[in-house]
Amino acid sequence: MSRTVAFLDPTTNSSTRTEAFRAMHSDDVHRNAMASFGDDYGVLTFAGENLRRRLGPRALEQLERTIQHGEPLNEDIADEVATAMKDWAIEQGCTHYCHWFQPLTGSTAEKHDSFINLDHNGQPLAEFSGEALICGEPDASSFPSGGVRDTWEARGYTAWDPTSPAFIMPNGGERTLCIPTAFVSWTGESLDLKTPLMRSNDAISRQAMRILRLFGNDTGVRCVYTTLGCEQEYFLIDEDLASMRPDLAMCGRTVMGAQPPKGHQLDDHYFGAIPSEVQAFMGDVEERLYELGIPAKTRHNEVAPRQFEIAPLFERSNVASDHQQLMMTVLKRAAHRHGFTCLLHEKPFAGINGTGKHNNWAMCTNTGHNLLSPGKGGEGNLQFLTFVCAVVRALDLHAGILRGSVASAGNDHRLGANEAPPAILSIYTGEELGNVLDTLMAGETAGFESKSELDLGATVMPTLERHPGDRNRTSPFAFIGNRFEFRAVGGQAPVAWPNTVLNTAVAQSIDWLATKIEAALADGPTKGSLEASAVAVLGEVLNTHGRVIFNGDNYSDAWHEEAAQRGLPVLRGTADALPTLRGDEVAEMFSQYGVMNHRELTARIDVLMEQYITTLTIEASTMAQMVDRLVRPAAVRYCTELAESVATMKSAGVSCDGVTADLSRLTSAVDALVAGQAALQAAIDHEDSCVDDHARFIQGTMIPAMDAVRDACDEIECVVPADLWPMPTYTDMLFG
Ligand code: ADP
Ligand code: MG
Repeated sequence: MSRTVAFLDPTTNSSTRTEAFRAMHSDDVHRNAMASFGDDYGVLTFAGENLRRRLGPRALEQLERTIQHGEPLNEDIADEVATAMKDWAIEQGCTHYCHWFQPLTGSTAEKHDSFINLDHNGQPLAEFSGEALICGEPDASSFPSGGVRDTWEARGYTAWDPTSPAFIMPNGGERTLCIPTAFVSWTGESLDLKTPLMRSNDAISRQAMRILRLFGNDTGVRCVYTTLGCEQEYFLIDEDLASMRPDLAMCGRTVMGAQPPKGHQLDDHYFGAIPSEVQAFMGDVEERLYELGIPAKTRHNEVAPRQFEIAPLFERSNVASDHQQLMMTVLKRAAHRHGFTCLLHEKPFAGINGTGKHNNWAMCTNTGHNLLSPGKGGEGNLQFLTFVCAVVRALDLHAGILRGSVASAGNDHRLGANEAPPAILSIYTGEELGNVLDTLMAGETAGFESKSELDLGATVMPTLERHPGDRNRTSPFAFIGNRFEFRAVGGQAPVAWPNTVLNTAVAQSIDWLATKIEAALADGPTKGSLEASAVAVLGEVLNTHGRVIFNGDNYSDAWHEEAAQRGLPVLRGTADALPTLRGDEVAEMFSQYGVMNHRELTARIDVLMEQYITTLTIEASTMAQMVDRLVRPAAVRYCTELAESVATMKSAGVSCDGVTADLSRLTSAVDALVAGQAALQAAIDHEDSCVDDHARFIQGTMIPAMDAVRDACDEIECVVPADLWPMPTYTDMLFG
């Protein structure tokens, strides 16, 4: 209580007030508040207390070594873990288990097996062996593999990932034990998104440990991992309305729809009061997530009408990536329970903000030290700056493939528009870090002002800490004080893939920097001085790669021109961006760091290309059907009505100019629609044996054909009366 009084007392000086403010948010106050709803946290995961209570000390220690320190799994403990897991799952009402994995489809996969077995008397018993825990062999031959595994050699294996907690998924009144697994072919090549992500984390760990050793900060550190916190945006639409739109059902986005009179010009939705029915939904989602051990943290209204956001606390990236996939599933299922459809597509509605997933990324030691945290100065700073420079170098060298890693049919609608980062990748450092990097570029060190104070000028208000790295919402890759935020990831995209590319690119640059600093320390003008060696190398990196740093407005046209002058790649669409991953040096990098061999990489690019082509072909076909079955019939009905009116009015001898004008506006739009449809159908029928060529055709020909058809449909929608229009409009869905 006294804390509160100190805080509110206007006579207290500013630093006492700051202390009081901080004390109010101190750990113990916070923990008390948590106790009221923390009981169910993680109840549906085989982790924490569940592990500690159910495993013997030896198995527990061995498993924790793998989970905490990244040590190889001791397979001798598998039987004990499997039995404990099964007993727990059965107590929780499960009859089945599944190996849960992330195939290249971009969603998750599961094939359920019951625990049932028969003893020698034919009596049923529940059984789950270590072998079944560690390895599964789903047929799973229908998943895209990009040619890594042909269907006639259908063997694929799922392998237990002990670092990601097994969980129980309630669904339709049933409960299933889900075991996160990797999915590989019988050659050991990865067929999923998890395996390369885990390998890329190992690559980061190996290289980052070298920097820690150089700076003498490796004591007690066994590994480095990347951390990830993903902010998920989504739309919630009334399910009854959404179900009347074939495009939402087939494509997850509208392929037509006239603009409503209001969008988000008034900025009145962003951070606005959350509608009660939406808050009820959010509460339900959070409860489900807490049970699954997913630490949901923030919730708010986003920019567009009916758009919202949820963000969890960050976790190790492998677990965060699994949890991100689960979160998308939970959001969709909960929406259905609340009478909503949850849209995760990057651009469900033209003309208003789309949906992204801000990917907050950092590197952390197993002892909990965030390597992207500036620290308090001195040597610690130089180590921090080494990691920052590795990221700068990685982004400059690999801007193309990072852009490629977020390329998809959906994300093409977002990137480049004035709502999301442009298709040009650059880094925002903020002023404080920017100043330090400028000094380094000149070959000197500067004190890093990691925190400063912000006085609000009103006596009763607390003094705030100003963090380094102010916000710049327009940058695709921004430094936010202790992490980088990669903002170009799509709303429905699995995060494993862009993070695999990012980790590998950064691992390569950490390797380069470590090698250079080691060499400079051993020989040459800076021999023997770590500080001088590091400063020289970091200066070189910044002089060569500093062009990727941009602290201005990324939305401005001037930046597009400047970026081109700086030689940064401008890759507008998927057909431009994905092929960057086909470069020989790219394959060499992934293979050198043990992340993917050439076949695995090519497989992924081919699958992504196919997905792009298939997605757009489905969208175009959906559009064609909607035109034939909904738009044209409505247009013709109204044409007839108008034509009859004209005839009647003429025979009555009254002026019918207005009605005639409506009729000709409508018939012109129908003519344009018919012409557009012919071009659209030709584009749908187009075949190409080369996926890259086909993707270019789609981008250059099919999308413009879809745009022309859409224009005609939207024009018709503006003329046809509401009672004749056969589907919910944007106004109905967004403001109804
Ligand atoms: P914003 O203000 O950018 O919208 P949010 O609070 O919505 O921020 O989300 C920020 C995300 O960044 C959260 O998921 C948070 O846990 C995550 N984050 C914070 N620190 C780190 C870190 N060191 N590594 C990865 N993610 C982090
Ligand atoms: Mg946010």
